[in-house]
Amino acid sequence: MAEASPGVTSPLLRVQGVTLQYKTTDYVVTATHRVDFDVYPSDRYVLLGPSGCGKSTLLKAIGGYLTPSEGSISLKGRPVRAPGPDRMMVFQEFDQLLPWKTVQENVTFALTASGKLGAAEARDRAGYYIEKVGLQKFAGNYPHMLSGGMKQRVAIARGMAMEPDVLLMDEPYAALDALTRRRMQEELLTLWDDTRFTVLFVTHSIEEAIRIGTRILLLSPHPGQVKAELNSIPPEALGTAAQAELETRINDMLFTH
Ligand code: ADP
Ligand code: MG
Repeated sequence: MAEASPGVTSPLLRVQGVTLQYKTTDYVVTATHRVDFDVYPSDRYVLLGPSGCGKSTLLKAIGGYLTPSEGSISLKGRPVRAPGPDRMMVFQEFDQLLPWKTVQENVTFALTASGKLGAAEARDRAGYYIEKVGLQKFAGNYPHMLSGGMKQRVAIARGMAMEPDVLLMDEPYAALDALTRRRMQEELLTLWDDTRFTVLFVTHSIEEAIRIGTRILLLSPHPGQVKAELNSIPPEALGTAAQAELETRINDMLFTH
């Protein structure tokens, strides 16, 4: 992959030649093979590929939960060796919130439990991000009083409140109905417009990749290898011929060997 020329922002996250394997005494599963990519600040970077191509495994490795058997992962020039608050993961499951805590308490708790902030500062910071995701009126509610989409927003607020260098999202909308999914995608883009956070987003949906991503990495099936890296289209080009063209291009690339 091309090296950044002098003066150009350096990558926030570098994944270089990363092979990931699951090993037991009886077998080895190679989930990804020598995957390379760079994520720059404020990228909405999408990993796209069919089920089983190693997307979740890559995210786990970036999260620091898995060590590559080959290659390296670095964040701001430092090798990733363990999980840390600089990389927050938002999962697909809605029930990632503590049911006995309110929205405000769920977000505050993440900040105090990590030792990042004292009680008063944590409360303020939590309030700020709860407002960012438009839930200020629901700050005192418990998770069971919220819709799935709202719970997801709380989980995002909680992740963002930690002010990570990169937010990792593993198919966060895969279980939603089409309309809620579309609304959540739009909300994520609005939130991004506001804060320009860096997000690494995993999906197996071509349409979602185009909608969410600024950059898209295409992975081939098992073991996952990089097929191509492309720019997406700007949100205002969604629904035009440009979207259909890109979808066809990606389809062709994913299905030719
Ligand atoms: P994706 O998220 O793209 O659907 P995964 O990263 O979950 O793919 O899985 C990649 C490959 O690794 C698959 O073949 C899967 O069966 C295998 N795999 C995932 N998790 C484990 C595990 N804990 N132990 C053994 N194999 C696994
Ligand atoms: Mg997965």
